[in-house]
Amino acid sequence: MNTARLAGSLDWMAVELAELADQGRRRHLRQARALPGGKVELDGRILLNLCSNNYLGIMEELEAPSEAAGATASRLIVGNHPAIIELEEMLAELHQTEAALVFGSGYLANLGCLTALASRGDAIYADKLNHASLIDGAELSRATHVRYRHNDLDHLESLLKQGASYRRKLIVSDAVFSMDGDCAEVAGLVELKDRYGAMLMLDEAHSGGVLGPGGAGLSAAHGLAEHVDVHMGTLSKAFGCYGAYVAGKRPLIDYLVNRARSLIYSSGLPPLLAKVAQQAVGRVRQADERRRQLHQNAELFRQDLWKLGLDTGSSTTQIIPLITGADETAVELGRRLRKAGVGVLAIRPPTVRENAARIRFSIMATHQPEDLRRALAAIAETCRGLNLPKGSRT
Ligand SMILES: *Cc1c(COP(=O)(O)O)cnc(C)c1O
Repeated sequence: MNTARLAGSLDWMAVELAELADQGRRRHLRQARALPGGKVELDGRILLNLCSNNYLGIMEELEAPSEAAGATASRLIVGNHPAIIELEEMLAELHQTEAALVFGSGYLANLGCLTALASRGDAIYADKLNHASLIDGAELSRATHVRYRHNDLDHLESLLKQGASYRRKLIVSDAVFSMDGDCAEVAGLVELKDRYGAMLMLDEAHSGGVLGPGGAGLSAAHGLAEHVDVHMGTLSKAFGCYGAYVAGKRPLIDYLVNRARSLIYSSGLPPLLAKVAQQAVGRVRQADERRRQLHQNAELFRQDLWKLGLDTGSSTTQIIPLITGADETAVELGRRLRKAGVGVLAIRPPTVRENAARIRFSIMATHQPEDLRRALAAIAETCRGLNLPKGSRT
């Protein structure tokens, strides 16, 4: 064999993948298909779906319209289909903002927004548990990326105090944290933003559709939406579709149209999806009863986990972690639960910090009480003998 050619080939990847496997951190794509009633077909078996973001069960109700499957160009060329413009009007109305701007996905929205709003000489103040897309956007922006301890407003304030020399300051946080299911301290963030002359951006990916009047999110739930400069949301979670947006004042949107590279240098959302997303926004706004059901399901599920003495961290929403600490324990627990018909996956570093591996339960409005009861019985049975960390709220 010609080793010189091999040395220049892709062999290093196999080596790294083997290392990941040794550490128990190798990731695999599984075949999965969401089914109605909060179920999922995972690797060919039908399980209770406790790991999707389709919190309201809206996805299965959306109908495919006959509309163009491609935008055919960037929105600044000929990709700005009327369906996208109508969708933006609906989103601005949902958030009671002057305007909204649709992006290809939440990842693209965060990348485009952060790189447009901050650059060299500016500072982005970011919660340590922010979503990867916010971290990547901050890194790519060339601004100083200042990370404050999770939900620690005193720490954030001390960092803002030291930041007087930055040209512009942007505070950015998940509204509901994706791996912990706790909420940002919106009132405190608004106060600090005002005191230190910063902009405030909230990523409402997991709160959009779920919290607030009409599903307008966490800041709306607190009556503070108008104090948030940049509302980012995705259409891929409670909205059950795909695509994402930023909502805010007209100058913000006009500025992003001119500066957000993920908007300018990427094709427009397919009109087909924009039409489906319009249905989704309409349904989400009307989904008060589902929101009530979702919160009730989540509250009961969390309380039952506490009763089992399990550690659900700081969750207060439909995202409920079961913290196992060790990676292997999370992986083993996930395997046993799937075997028992409970569709969950282990979350390991680097998605969460070291020694904080977990099972992440996502509750849905469409979960039936008896299905959740069965899942809890399986969890009780499975956790016995695994020596899990004790919760503090039993
Ligand atoms: C899922 C998620 C995103 C990315 O949204 P997509 O539309 O799926 O790309 C961004 N931020 C947070 C907090 C998320 O959970």
